[in-house]
Amino acid sequence: MSLAEAHNGRERLRIRVRGAVQGVGFRPFVHGLAARFRLSGFVLNDEDGVLAEVEGAALDGFLAALQNESPPLAHIDAVDVTPMPRGGQQGFAIRESVGRDAGRTRMVADAATCRSCLDELFDPASRFHLYPFVTCTHCGPRFTITRHLPYDRRNTSMAGFGLCQDCAADYADPASRRFHAETIACPVCGPRLSHPVEEIAVALRHGQIVALKGIGGFHLLCDATNERAVATLRRRKRRPAKPFAVMVANEASVEHIATPSLGERALLRQLARPAVLMRARAGLAPSVAPGLDRVAVMLPSAPVHHLLFHALAGEPKGAAWLDQLQPVALVATSANVAGEPLIIADAEALQALAGVADMIVTHDRPILMRADDSVMAVIDGGPAYVRRSRGFAPEPIDLGQDGPAVIAVGGHLKATLCVTRGREAFVSQHVGDLNTAAAIRFYEETARRMLTMLDVAPQLVACDLHPDYRSTRFAEAMDLPILRLQHHAAHLAAVAAEHHLRGPILGLALDGHGYGDDGSAWGGELMLLEGAGWRRLGHLRPLALPGGDRAAGEPWRMGVAALTALGRGAEAVWRFPGNALAGRLAAMLAANVQGPTTTSMGRLFDAAAALLGVCAEQSYEGQAAMQLEALVRIPRCLRGGYRITGDILDFTPLLASLLEPGLQAREGAELFHGTLVAGLAEWIGQGVARLGRPDVVLGGGCLANRVLAEGLTSALRARNLVAWLPRAAPANDGGLSLGQAAMARAHLIAERMPYRSSTR
Ligand SMILES: [Zn+2]
Ligand SMILES: [Zn+2]
Repeated sequence: MSLAEAHNGRERLRIRVRGAVQGVGFRPFVHGLAARFRLSGFVLNDEDGVLAEVEGAALDGFLAALQNESPPLAHIDAVDVTPMPRGGQQGFAIRESVGRDAGRTRMVADAATCRSCLDELFDPASRFHLYPFVTCTHCGPRFTITRHLPYDRRNTSMAGFGLCQDCAADYADPASRRFHAETIACPVCGPRLSHPVEEIAVALRHGQIVALKGIGGFHLLCDATNERAVATLRRRKRRPAKPFAVMVANEASVEHIATPSLGERALLRQLARPAVLMRARAGLAPSVAPGLDRVAVMLPSAPVHHLLFHALAGEPKGAAWLDQLQPVALVATSANVAGEPLIIADAEALQALAGVADMIVTHDRPILMRADDSVMAVIDGGPAYVRRSRGFAPEPIDLGQDGPAVIAVGGHLKATLCVTRGREAFVSQHVGDLNTAAAIRFYEETARRMLTMLDVAPQLVACDLHPDYRSTRFAEAMDLPILRLQHHAAHLAAVAAEHHLRGPILGLALDGHGYGDDGSAWGGELMLLEGAGWRRLGHLRPLALPGGDRAAGEPWRMGVAALTALGRGAEAVWRFPGNALAGRLAAMLAANVQGPTTTSMGRLFDAAAALLGVCAEQSYEGQAAMQLEALVRIPRCLRGGYRITGDILDFTPLLASLLEPGLQAREGAELFHGTLVAGLAEWIGQGVARLGRPDVVLGGGCLANRVLAEGLTSALRARNLVAWLPRAAPANDGGLSLGQAAMARAHLIAERMPYRSSTR
């Protein structure tokens, strides 16, 4: 029944709106619509969302506007309309909330400062003029300042700030943008910055490093065009090469440092303000992203960032500068001690960053939830997460169908957790690598908070098959039945889940490392997936993994493994002169056939990067592969560069070709990518022929490689196949918990029905 039919001939409607509709200005929005369409009735918040009753003649217009013009932070899942007898009531009222707010409502993510607030920020006549904490119901922090639901000021870190008379009046005025804005504050009554903005700008202009408290944590800032400043930051932060993100004043200024595509611009403009990967122009300091051709760019997410760019632009009058190119670019990177979580507390910042930053800027509004910057890229014309965190967490991913509540604990690197409720999967913000006590504390606290916030009792906990992961031990310590899931099956299940693909489906996982059910290191796996069940259909030809886990950080070891596989181990000594162990390792590999092996695509990239002399040692995960990708202009396929023998895809001939004398690194990188794509596409084609369904899900960290991912999807399209990429969660281990959760739900559903999945 359409909405129009629902109230045909009636004049009063009860309207139930479900979704993220509380704390986002929905009631005043409805109030405004009622006035516009001359309707009487009321609106209120209750535990199912927003409930309204409206009466009058122009109900069609009202219903259309309700859905088409809803506030920017609202997310409507459903609108149910029920005809009612007429009440004859006059006027329209916003009524008190009914019942417990927590129930099925949800927490809203943090959102960038809206245009109306920006106009006030730079309007000398406004009481919010130059106020670093200006917000309204359509913008500002939410998730990161909330202790628990319901989202009321008393449950946020704004609780300690009483409202002045003006703010109290706005808060109570349904016509104000700040009606029931829980974050409302002004220079009279609200939080304050520890330093004048002008002082911060002077420090940055002089090449100093500034720690600045933002929305989800502290940033370290410096002038991104000043090589000495950026190099100093690298030295002090002990971060030799991992790329830094860069913040610019506005969209017009992006052109100054990069050449964004239309899709990349659209990602930049999102209210979440993620850092977006795009092709860099000359002009940034070389140390911003050494050896890479792309740079992660973001726009300001908090008023203080806009104030800073205003000061750096020489304090122009009015608000026009907000739309004009500003040549300033700032490195904006997470402030943390290597391997530890992002710093959010003032005291910790003052202590831990004393040796890193020349100036540490705090404020007195505590950050309650840590949220790193999100990072995105455009891949094959669509959005892809590298990291899904600030601005996106804790908003749910739709699983397409109802199911039992489960918790999934993710992996070890780039860890996230996932809790399901109804048809929704809530993936936590990025927690990071679980290598330090502080990271593990943050991880455990995140799990507790999610369960409290969502108010669910999971029936099952899902974890990785790896026995030594901290996340596995965390799952074992929970008082719940446990389901251990193979790493790459979970990667692929995540992609199938977000695209609502059901039934048996083919999947290809291209990843760095995951524990196989034979105990070896997997990462180049062709799989058949169905619900919680999976089967390994094929894999890359195994290479030796000399040094086990150490090989991941030292690509030269994979180079030696490749040489040995080619029967050319003797060349290790002169090909890797910087590594004294290379010769000995080659001899050991030649003699010992029982060492650890790997089928990982990530390690194959390492081998290629090492053989081509692009990267022998890496200082961050994925460095060798990223530098190799950055060299590619046009990928080319080497005829005979791969072999498919039974279930095994073998790129040994390709590796041999990389050793051709006189081959340039760029040519090698192009051959490597092009041949991988051709081999993988043919391999998938054979798998699809066996299965008889044209879909294939692609997952795993290597899908962040745009040349590989786009090459593969277009090669598959050319074969009339349908490739599904990770869109809602990262391809890397940040998306693992989503897949584990989907498999756990499928497992429970299968348990209850006579059907049982084919877990091997
Ligand atoms: Zn606003
Ligand atoms: Zn005030």
